Amino acid sequence: MICALVGNQNSGKTTLFNALTGSNQKVGNWPGVTIEKKEGTIKGSDIGIVDLPGIYSLSPYTAEEEVSRKFCFEEKPDLIVNIIDATSLERSLYLTTQLLEMDTDVIIALNMEDMLNKVGISIDVKKLSEKIGCSIVSISAKNGTGINNLIDLIKSGKYKKNEHIRIYPNDIEWVINDNIVHFLPEQNFKRFSAVKVIEHDQDYLVLLNRHSEANIKNLEEKYQMDGEQLIADKRYAYIAELKKECVKVTPVPESITDKLDRIFLNKWLAIPIFLVIMALVYMLSVGVVGGLTVNLIDMLFNGADVLELSLFSKTWEIPVNFLGLGPWLGELIKNAGGSPWAVSLVQNGVISAVGAVCNFVPQIIILFSCLAILETTGYMSRISFFLDRVFHNFGLSGKSLVPFILGSGCSVPGIMTCRTVEDPDERHLSIILTPFIPCNAKLPIIALFASYFFGSNSWIVSFSLYLFAVTIILLSGIILKHLIYKGHSSTFVSELPNYQAPSFKYVARDVSDKTLAFIKRAGSVILICSVVVWFLASFTFDFKFVDGVNVLIENSMLAGIGNTFAWFFYIMLGGNWSWAAAVSAIQGLVAKEQVISSMTVISGVASDASTGAGIFTSSAFSFFNGWSAYAFLVFNLFSAPCFGAIGAMRKELGSLKATLKGIGFQIGVAWVLASLIGGIGWLISL
Ligand code: GDP
Ligand code: MG
Repeated sequence: MICALVGNQNSGKTTLFNALTGSNQKVGNWPGVTIEKKEGTIKGSDIGIVDLPGIYSLSPYTAEEEVSRKFCFEEKPDLIVNIIDATSLERSLYLTTQLLEMDTDVIIALNMEDMLNKVGISIDVKKLSEKIGCSIVSISAKNGTGINNLIDLIKSGKYKKNEHIRIYPNDIEWVINDNIVHFLPEQNFKRFSAVKVIEHDQDYLVLLNRHSEANIKNLEEKYQMDGEQLIADKRYAYIAELKKECVKVTPVPESITDKLDRIFLNKWLAIPIFLVIMALVYMLSVGVVGGLTVNLIDMLFNGADVLELSLFSKTWEIPVNFLGLGPWLGELIKNAGGSPWAVSLVQNGVISAVGAVCNFVPQIIILFSCLAILETTGYMSRISFFLDRVFHNFGLSGKSLVPFILGSGCSVPGIMTCRTVEDPDERHLSIILTPFIPCNAKLPIIALFASYFFGSNSWIVSFSLYLFAVTIILLSGIILKHLIYKGHSSTFVSELPNYQAPSFKYVARDVSDKTLAFIKRAGSVILICSVVVWFLASFTFDFKFVDGVNVLIENSMLAGIGNTFAWFFYIMLGGNWSWAAAVSAIQGLVAKEQVISSMTVISGVASDASTGAGIFTSSAFSFFNGWSAYAFLVFNLFSAPCFGAIGAMRKELGSLKATLKGIGFQIGVAWVLASLIGGIGWLISL
């Protein structure tokens, strides 16, 4: 026995097919077309079942309809299982009325019963079954309810036989039965063929006779429609009648989610509200928490005479005279007879470098907490859904990008989720654009520069960079899409979770995982690199120790290396030749936080005093002003990501050449943007 599974697209055919067959399935192609053909056997039986392509009618308009129609006629399945989306009966039953005109028995699988309550529809299944003349089983293919009833009914053979229930007005039925069917030779599908004759279907014109031709004309004149319209119209009229008798719709009270969506996903308000929320997140983490904690933690690592705390534009100076871990260890080593370079290694190479990154832990905790709360309340996935549609207008799929624009975090998982983008060109594009998003390792760079150069406006600058990144992603997306990749955007159908109270367990776990990972990097990668940088900055090529008096840092190995690259940064730094900024930016390849750790080490070795914001008083970095600071930030934001992310790009792009091209593009964008900003600042200051 062979069953055919027939239904509209997205009615749940594939889901039901999987539920019916389990793993007994074979996937191939229909002959001559690239439409997938799935065959299998129903669990616990030898009944074969075929998943036909999704169709809305049996007219041979589309390749899918052609395949399904051919199968029903030529392979003659013993039974049709017509799967219907119960929440849109009207559209689904239109196909059912056509199926019932064939001679095959039909069982209706009334799917999505789980959704009916939510949309306030109740269906009198028994009555509907009587009226339409076939057996109906209520199921939820997704939840697996009713599937066994369906299997039992198929196996038992006790379903209603197809009796060709009359659905058209009497005059039309008369033409069908007495004018056409009556004259047909013994053959299958008489009723189906007769209806096709009225519809003027080319394949059935030979069946036209003298009687029917005249009477069809009469009908067309009477109803003022051509045959095809007439049949469609009467099918819908019949369905409307069925609905009136068997379906009750009760208005469901608007859910809280609907009410919230009316505001949060409002066509005009969604994006402004989203921007305000993200601005608040940055204000809280970078502005409020940053201003209160950076100097405090810096004091623990490096000591301070006066502790400076700030909240918005207010600043408090508290005399503390705190020695700090680094100076304390330095004293200890000096007193034990350690040489100046050993003191410098511990103080500048290790403690202040690691401290430079740890200063930002509180901000990162607050940032992660806010994002995690937005995530667990369901806001993130709903706004991504909204933004995905906006992205579509730009010809991009937001599928992989959106969650990472929202969630920041790390580019590596972002790059890996690009796998879910089906279109290869689009996947490519998403992989290359994902690292533009300000990941959490970039936050310290942004926050450090912003707080020094923009004071109480630091959070605005940080937020502006975030917006800048999103804008550049969209722009590069559009440009690349139109120049290089010319595919379509795939659609993104996703079921949205309801809004809910935030789960603090989830938030706590998420935040502690991410924060620990951040601290671990400070204690491993950052530590090792900083020691290497310290070494290169503290010795000349002939191994003389840089003491700041006889041997200057400008003669160190690090300066030598930096000088070979400094030209690259010349414009963005406003016409300043800086080996120190060059080597620091390059170290962003290892880890983005390393940029500031490196700057801390260099300024420490150079002046043996500066940490935290003091970096910018050291001779190595004192040239920075607002413009070049912003330009340097932009460069670090967009240039090639860290090696971890480059590795992920290589893996997902699948070729070294594509990876190099991608990195070239990223560095190019970063250089052009940063040089533009720095260059403008340079011109203004002339
Ligand atoms: P097909 O196009 O007919 O093959 O439909 P699919 O099987 O791919 O299903 C389309 C969508 O409807 C998927 O997102 C399914 O998860 C969803 N779906 C299928 N059956 C049900 C159901 O019984 N209830 C609900 N709520 N969703 C369902
Ligand atoms: Mg399918």
